[in-house]
Amino acid sequence: MTTSLQRRVRRLEEVSGDGGCERCRGVLVLASNAITGEFHSATCNGELLSEEEVRERQAETSCPRCGRKLDSGEAPVIKVGGLRGGT
Ligand SMILES: [Zn+2]
Repeated sequence: MTTSLQRRVRRLEEVSGDGGCERCRGVLVLASNAITGEFHSATCNGELLSEEEVRERQAETSCPRCGRKLDSGEAPVIKVGGLRGGT
């Protein structure tokens, strides 16, 4: 099953594939409440991340694994506005 979200992730992975390792090339998929912005869940490369781990990643200026410079302004993040308050 391929969802449109998975297609978007694939595309982002392709355009960001200019070097780097698995960790920093992974696309962060952030799911948060569309209205309050409250953190819901996040995954990267299929791995579940905690809110803290997401903050750490977003604060990184270079990849701790391969040393690739990370521009947080360009880091591929997909925000998913899930869970619309029980409508
Ligand atoms: Zn890396």
